[in-house]
Amino acid sequence: MGLFGGRKTVFVDADILVIGGGMAGCGATYESRYWGRDLKIVCVEKANIERSGAVAQGLYAINCYMGMQWGENQPEDHVRYARNDLMGLVREDLGYDIARHVDSTVHKFEEWGLPIMRDPKTGRYQREGKWQIMIHGESYKPIVAEAARKAATEVYNRIMVTHLLMDAKQANRVAGAVGFNVRTGDFHVFRGKAVIVCAGGASHIFQPRSVGEGMGRTWYAPWSSASAYALPIQVGAKMTQMENRIVLTRFKDGYGPVGAYFLHLKTYTQNGYGEEYEKRWYEDTKALVGDYIDRHPVPTCLRNHAILREVAAGRGPIRMVTKEAFQDPHKETVGWENFLGMTIGQAVVWASQNIDPKHINPELTTSEPYVMGSHATCSGAWASGPEDYAPAEYQWGYNRMMTVEALFGAGDTIGGSAHKFSSGSFTEGRIAGKAAVKYVKDMGQTKPQVSEHEYRDLEQEIYQPLENYRVGRNEIVAGTVSPSYLLPIHGLQRLEKIMDEYVGGISTNYMTNGVLLERGLELLAMLKEDMNNMGAEDLHSLQRTWELHHRLLASESVTQHTLFREETRWPGYYYRGDHMKLDDANWHCFTLSRYDRNTGKWEMEKAPVYHIVD
Ligand SMILES: Cc1cc2nc3c(=O)[nH]c(=O)nc-3n(C[C@H](O)[C@H](O)[C@H](O)COP(=O)(O)OP(=O)(O)OC[C@H]3O[C@@H](n4cnc5c(N)ncnc54)[C@H](O)[C@@H]3O)c2cc1C
Repeated sequence: MGLFGGRKTVFVDADILVIGGGMAGCGATYESRYWGRDLKIVCVEKANIERSGAVAQGLYAINCYMGMQWGENQPEDHVRYARNDLMGLVREDLGYDIARHVDSTVHKFEEWGLPIMRDPKTGRYQREGKWQIMIHGESYKPIVAEAARKAATEVYNRIMVTHLLMDAKQANRVAGAVGFNVRTGDFHVFRGKAVIVCAGGASHIFQPRSVGEGMGRTWYAPWSSASAYALPIQVGAKMTQMENRIVLTRFKDGYGPVGAYFLHLKTYTQNGYGEEYEKRWYEDTKALVGDYIDRHPVPTCLRNHAILREVAAGRGPIRMVTKEAFQDPHKETVGWENFLGMTIGQAVVWASQNIDPKHINPELTTSEPYVMGSHATCSGAWASGPEDYAPAEYQWGYNRMMTVEALFGAGDTIGGSAHKFSSGSFTEGRIAGKAAVKYVKDMGQTKPQVSEHEYRDLEQEIYQPLENYRVGRNEIVAGTVSPSYLLPIHGLQRLEKIMDEYVGGISTNYMTNGVLLERGLELLAMLKEDMNNMGAEDLHSLQRTWELHHRLLASESVTQHTLFREETRWPGYYYRGDHMKLDDANWHCFTLSRYDRNTGKWEMEKAPVYHIVD
């Protein structure tokens, strides 16, 4: 069979095209149907929405819930919290917009069957912390997916979207997307009046701590492959805060989350000698970031910083003191259930390493960096804000529309709005869905114009790695190293090594500088050249190839942003050795980038941070 022999092209027309059926994508699909009763709403997902995305395995807590019905928190409180945690830099309009709607989302989840724990004394949702509520969340994703499935006109599972399509008649307007079915190989051309990208965050762009037999174990989902960033970047959408990669303090080797332990079980940390260590680094941190160290709660990155300094001083490992809490049988149960409902791997790692947290305080470590927009970090696309709340400078289109017309986003995709988590991502999907429906209705009869030339060229490019492999494979008799093609795993390992060594990964203790970043960009450019020689032995490898393309483009963006911001804004996430201090005078701003796919050049600029909430 030749390169295109036997492969079908499937054409799909949609009013609203949702790319990625994770939390945000399910929210966008659900809400689009609410406002667009007679519209064609299509959700495209590379896995199966039943169990896809970062929530695939389940969660034990919903991390963003105001509790306004009980007067627990107000949206403004959440804006202050996120701003503090991100060292002053968040899009307050976007964060406020999510916070004011997130409770209604959580109430829907409960109505759809998600078991939310209740405090037996008050009858309210059981709080894990100020913003978190506890759930029996093993089936969180199937519950949410069911609502999206019922709302969608069609859900296309197993389609890896590789590129967005631009309108042939109107400049800077998106008109659809292309991709391929990872099971049948069919080529899919989606035409959409509005496109909502909800394709999750990015793991595996930096060298992970788990390598060799442990490869694949990361904190963020290993299938989060940066499509959320690469798809908009390819078509010239502006990105923001891509330097704000996140490093997580997690249980060692299993990456088990620590939230329930700190907040609900009231466990705490110690150094290898059983000493408290955070206070020891107070003056050191103050010298870097000034008053930000005095904020409450202490920003996430600064807590990492204390761990990194303590370990570098030779007093590791850092341990979570679980032995006390686990004497209480209720807390012991919660401690284990927390992992069994969310990160089973951590329980398995402990069992395999003879760690019973009732008798041994387990080790913590800092993870490799990830890129995402929904956690204690806010990388992603630069989006227009809510009409009734955003400052004029943050409004150029419909809510959550990027700087490319008809292109919307939500969840990890959208930058500047940290701490949305699962519930906030779904909520932002709803916000984007509502705005996209309004856009489509305002368009009237105008239809997106897709150029056949464009999608046929893309088809050629997308499947070329299969042909490269088919031809090149004959040159070798055994093994995987070929003179004429590169396998996706080789490309991935090369990318991770470059990012790790030059852009502030684990091997340099998150340290980088201008010289390293410039060299990193040169090496990334060489890898980019070699991407023309990718070889894919089957459809699975073809998917890995396109995930690598997306990771590479997102990595370039991260590196450009890290180079542009000449300060160390988030010690504990990364350090610019040549600009070790936080510099509010020059860098109390957002960084924005725009990629030009014709020239391969990046334009960088600053955008103001408006503090709307006092
Ligand atoms: C270990 C872990 C613990 C967490 N703990 C909590 C917690 O306790 N509480 C909480 O509220 N939140 C938690 N979160 C965060 C929460 O999961 C995320 O904030 C949320 O899932 C982000 O939503 P999203 O839709 O942006 O991304 P996702 O939910 O990851 O969805 C992205 C979707 O896009 C699909 N996709 C990607 N690329 C493509 C492509 N090219 N073509 C087609 N489809 C594509 C993916 O398969 C996926 O389905 C946790 C996350 C992890 C990984």
